[in-house]
Amino acid sequence: MADPGSTRRLGLDAAPEGLSIAQDVLNTAPIAGSGVSDLLGDVASARCSMDAAVALWAEQTGSDTPVVTLGESDLEPLRELRDELRRWLLDPTAGLGRTATLAVALRRDGAIYTPDGIGADQITGLVTTELVIASRTGRLRRLKTCANHACRAAFYDGSPGATRTWHDVKTCGNTANLRASRARRRTRSA
Ligand SMILES: [Zn+2]
Repeated sequence: MADPGSTRRLGLDAAPEGLSIAQDVLNTAPIAGSGVSDLLGDVASARCSMDAAVALWAEQTGSDTPVVTLGESDLEPLRELRDELRRWLLDPTAGLGRTATLAVALRRDGAIYTPDGIGADQITGLVTTELVIASRTGRLRRLKTCANHACRAAFYDGSPGATRTWHDVKTCGNTANLRASRARRRTRSA
């Protein structure tokens, strides 16, 4: 069976038009206490999850699926990319500097780009490029991580005003509201 991908394992919709590659990298992160494991914890699961991520990216962008071969030495750079991306989404004043090396074929009806390099560099190149494109189209502000700090699932906010803060209002939103109302009750009874 094909790997469902890191975002779909959380029951979330993929960010559109290639931005899913950044979301998929973010969603390889483990969620403590929920049974959601670190997909960049070992080579086998990193390969499965990145193969699924790259296949979805190719489908969304109309590109050929790049062959990405990951080894043990790619795990640390990928985890660093993920953690840096996450910090950057949480703090809009933080900078994010990455190098993207691409082979680009320009056509009259669009551009086809494939990442150069091997392993983690290919993923980094794709993620960086898609973030640049999304920053131009206004989609970047819709890529968010859940406001529940124990969760931090990456989701695409397709709501008209881009006002969502929870990856799922029923789980993370309700937990937070319950905690807040309990705290208010404690304050009142104190
Ligand atoms: Zn959440």
